[in-house]
Amino acid sequence: MNRSKTILVTGGAGFIGSHLCEKLLGGGNKVLCLDNFFTGSKNNVVHLLGNKNFSIIKHDITKPIFLKPDQIYNLACPASPIHYQKNPIKTIKTSTFGIINMLGMAKKSKARFLQASTSEVYGDPKLHPQKESYWGNVNPIGIRSCYDEGKRVAETLCFDYHREHKVDIRVARIFNTYGPRMQENDGRVVSNFIVQALQGKPITIYGDGSQTRSFCYVDDLVEGLMALMNKSNLTGPVNLGNPTEITIAELAKKVISLTNSLSVLKRKQLPKDDPHRRKPSISIAQKSLKWKPKIHLQKGLQRTIQYFQANKNDQEEK
Ligand code: NAD
Ligand code: UDP
Repeated sequence: MNRSKTILVTGGAGFIGSHLCEKLLGGGNKVLCLDNFFTGSKNNVVHLLGNKNFSIIKHDITKPIFLKPDQIYNLACPASPIHYQKNPIKTIKTSTFGIINMLGMAKKSKARFLQASTSEVYGDPKLHPQKESYWGNVNPIGIRSCYDEGKRVAETLCFDYHREHKVDIRVARIFNTYGPRMQENDGRVVSNFIVQALQGKPITIYGDGSQTRSFCYVDDLVEGLMALMNKSNLTGPVNLGNPTEITIAELAKKVISLTNSLSVLKRKQLPKDDPHRRKPSISIAQKSLKWKPKIHLQKGLQRTIQYFQANKNDQEEK
């Protein structure tokens, strides 16, 4: 019989974390949502506060804390370039001191530990699509390095805690994920384009828009994370993402069409080290976890647009 578990979600008040907390509670688990509210917000989990199995702990993972969960999902870390570059040293501390604290907790409490790693460990990839066996092409001293190299060291720490202390680890390499509860001012492309389109403002395309990404709807991603956490004998790394690749220029057109917007396209400078192409190979996830994304980009964008539309109306009512 499936025993209900006590599950710690660091970064639980963030975009992905809030969806994960919701899903874990739905499965009858006790969820501890730990967050320092740097990019996350209580609003993201306000609907869960009445649930007796849900609690929020305001804490920064770079500081030690001891809890005794059965599982730890370590999502704490700002994910959008504008946020992780705001205080780059703090970003690295979160992916080094922070994860050491969380892995130490996993070691003491014998909890299974899942790290939210990223496709950014592949940098500006020379292999396409990206397979887990690829070691990446990352600039160690650039403006994205605090995030990319931080996440690479975090993976190393997971594997060293596994080899040295037998911590039961899972490493998920998450590719671009989108959906409701992305922050309006988050700076990521899907939220930027939708908000700009709904407000009739110019859609900001960085560079010539020929760079590609592959976008995964948040519900699919959360299912993938839980499948990996609950799979025995699979440390990973495992890519989790939607392999449907699209250029940023095509994405802009799609958002304009789905919102019936009159927005025009506006070119802006491409940020330094912006990866040219990105698409996950998900054969390991498909084979080992029997997981693949189900939500088509069109449908996911429509749901996300509805969310931003409703939020816009809420704000106008205030
Ligand atoms: P997010 O910024 O919405 O969530 C991150 C959460 O972590 C926020 O609630 C923030 O307040 C919290 N946090 C940051 N630093 C912290 C610290 N030191 N202590 C405690 N809490 C802290 O981002 P997200 O998109 O939900 O991403 C969640 C995780 O998934 C991140 O680790 C990110 O690197 C990873 N990821 C996300 C994507 C994506 O496309 N969304 C892609 C790859 C990897
Ligand atoms: N991008 C863009 N306009 C925006 C925001 C982002 O053209 O308003 C581009 C960005 O340069 C990158 C892609 O969209 O090529 C994805 O950016 P995001 O920050 O969402 O994710 P990441 O670069 O981390 O994959």
